[in-house]
Order: sequence, then C-alpha cells, then structure tokens
Amino acid sequence: MGIGNDQDVAVSRIENMSDNIRDRVCLVTGASRGIGKAVALSLARHGGIVYGTATTADGADRISSMFGSENLNGRGRVLDVRDRNGIVQLIDAINKESGDPLILVNNAGITHDNLLVRMRDHEWEDLIEVNLTSMFRMTRAVVRRMMKARFGRIVNISSVIGAIGNPGQSNYAAAKAGILGFTKALAREAAPRGITVNAIAPGFIRTDMTGVLSEQQSSEMLAHIPLNRLGETEDIAHAVLFLVDGSGDYITGQTLHVNGGMYLP
Ligand code: NAP
Repeated sequence: MGIGNDQDVAVSRIENMSDNIRDRVCLVTGASRGIGKAVALSLARHGGIVYGTATTADGADRISSMFGSENLNGRGRVLDVRDRNGIVQLIDAINKESGDPLILVNNAGITHDNLLVRMRDHEWEDLIEVNLTSMFRMTRAVVRRMMKARFGRIVNISSVIGAIGNPGQSNYAAAKAGILGFTKALAREAAPRGITVNAIAPGFIRTDMTGVLSEQQSSEMLAHIPLNRLGETEDIAHAVLFLVDGSGDYITGQTLHVNGGMYLP
C-alpha cells in the first residue's frame, strides 16, 4: 500500500470517528445525575442507542425525558447495581429491545465517608458492593456478548482518590483502586476479542457528590488544582468519548486522569 493510500485510510478513520458509537447500544449506569448524565447525553448526541440507569422510576423517567427533549435515541431504566438478578434481567431486556450493549460505562457510585476507626461494617460493605462488586457483575453480564460481537468498549469510572488516598475515605479509595486492577486484568483478557477496557480517574468534579463539601473544603481543594477550577461533568464525558469513539481504539488497560493537574502520576 502506497503512502497515498495510507493517508486515505487515516483520513477516513478520522471522518468515521463516531462510527464506533452510531447505532450501537450503549449502557451507562447512574445516568440520572452528575457524570453519568453528561456521559449518556454525549453518547446519544453521537448517535448511540443509549440506556441510562437510575435507582428509582422517577429517575429513569427523567432520563427518558432528557433524551426525548433532544429527540435522541435513548431511554432510562431502573437498576440498583446491587441487585444481581436485576442486572441480568436488564441486559436481557435491552437485548430484546435494541440488541446487545457493546459500549458500557460503569459509572454508578456512592461515598460513605468515615474515619477508619469509626467505620461500621455496613459502610465498608455497601460501598464495595455499589462501587466495585457491581462493576464485576455488570461487566460479566455484557462481556460475553461483546466477545461474540468481537467488539466492545468498557469504561470504568474510578477516582483520583483511588490513586492518592484521602483521610476518611479508606472504603472509597479501596474500591476505586480495585477498579484500576480490575480494568488492567480484563483489558488483557478481552483484547484478543477486540474489546478495550479503560478507566477514567476524575479529580474533583462539580456534582451532587462534591456538592456536600463545605465552602472551606472546596477552596482548600481548589488550591491543589493547577488549572484552578473544579471539573465539569462534560470534562469527563469528553474523556469517555475519546476512549470509545474510535480515537482511542489502540488504548486499553489505561487510566486516564482527568483532574486539572491535581495529581500527576
Ligand atoms: P452523583 O451525582 O452522586 O450520582 C451518582 C449516580 O449513581 C446517580 O445516578 C445514582 O442514581 C447512581 N447510583 C447510586 N447508587 C446506586 C446504586 N446502588 N445502583 C445504581 N445506581 C446508583 O455522582 P457523580 O459525582 O456523578 O459520580 C459518578 C461516578 O464518578 C461515581 O462512581 C463517583 O465515585 C465517580 N467520581 C466522582 C467524582 C466527583 O468529583 N464528582 C470524582 C471522582 C470520581 P440515583 O440518582 O437514582 O440515586
């Protein structure tokens, strides 16, 4: 193949970036608010058939209306990621309705902050269940289908806290660091079938999760962010897009830190 042809291939790849997403079924957990909402919206705006989950029927309806108001191909579904049968049922239902999800964004997450000496068993267990174990169950439910399709894009939302730790967040840091190991192992397992698995580690992003911080805590945090602002949910949505839309096709097993420079690995 001559240089001209190589260039043609490169140009057509750039023009077709959204083809990874267009008409593909995408599943985003925790899409009722914050980061998941922005990610779901951006995937739908790039032509995906997007399913976003919420823990309540109200939340699921709000997701459906969000897509509907822009005439996008997407809908909300109820899912508590702790419900292992619920996960399997949801994937089956999506398959019947639209096909197998080949783009999965594991985003749902919670915090249960406490100093370790005061941390109760349920604060540890519930957090690990929602933030880490659910990721394993959700991914297991879709990855076989991705393997059959010989295509899949999985993005796991970790956190800067998983890399640097934070007092009062030993449970959260453990779950978020666990996600990074999970991501690397699965990336190696799934790569031969055309599936990439990556993590995004957001810094401090303006959502309900960080909305509980006091003004003093927020300004202390700001002092450690060289770009001098909290992140917006769209900053994370852009990073997800990069990993799934074709731009990041040769990237797997990586952690993309999106944190305004507050932590430089
Ligand atoms: P958020 O605004 O608090 O939204 C959390 C989302 O997760 C909601 O959609 C919520 O659904 C869903 N969720 C909570 N518990 C669930 C459960 N048991 N089953 C299913 N869904 C559940 O959070 P966010 O700030 O956007 O965070 C999203 C992800 O980014 C999390 O994994 C978080 O750890 C990570 N992250 C956030 C930041 C940050 O600064 N915000 C930084 C680093 C990492 P409902 O609306 O139905 O409750």
